[in-house]
Amino acid sequence: MKPLTEQQVRRSLVNCSRGEAEGLTLPRGFEATEWAGLELLGWRDPKAPLRGYLVLPVDDAPVGIALRAAETRMSSRTPAMCLLCQTPRSGDAVSLFTARRSGAAGRNGDTVGTYICADLGCAHRVRTEIPPWLRDRNPAEVVVELAAGLRDRALAFLDSVRRS
Ligand SMILES: [Zn+2]
Repeated sequence: MKPLTEQQVRRSLVNCSRGEAEGLTLPRGFEATEWAGLELLGWRDPKAPLRGYLVLPVDDAPVGIALRAAETRMSSRTPAMCLLCQTPRSGDAVSLFTARRSGAAGRNGDTVGTYICADLGCAHRVRTEIPPWLRDRNPAEVVVELAAGLRDRALAFLDSVRRS
């Protein structure tokens, strides 16, 4: 994705108030983000532990979603999978996140939820963690496919947040 400024990130969020967007804390090391290797920017708010954010480019403009992590977690012994990057992970490394829907639906308390890597680090994971069943293939091709899948699923989730 193209590099974003702090202002662009704050203005990109479609499902929270301007005050919430101004109050969020950017990921540590934001200035050093290597944008070229990311399908999306995902992070947990360093100062508000249950809050997280995903920002991805849609038609060249960044669109962001504010998320809230469930307070309960699955056991580390339960096998789980992130539904965005589809990396198999232990249960405690995946969290249920809910997003308030944008517009009137969100104001009425309507939310959508999905299971995502607890650290929202999916964009890094598709490049560094090839699932076992894909390891006999060309790694460069696999990364391209995993990254495209991540983007498609993130867009579908974004659509469910914005659908009116
Ligand atoms: Zn993930």
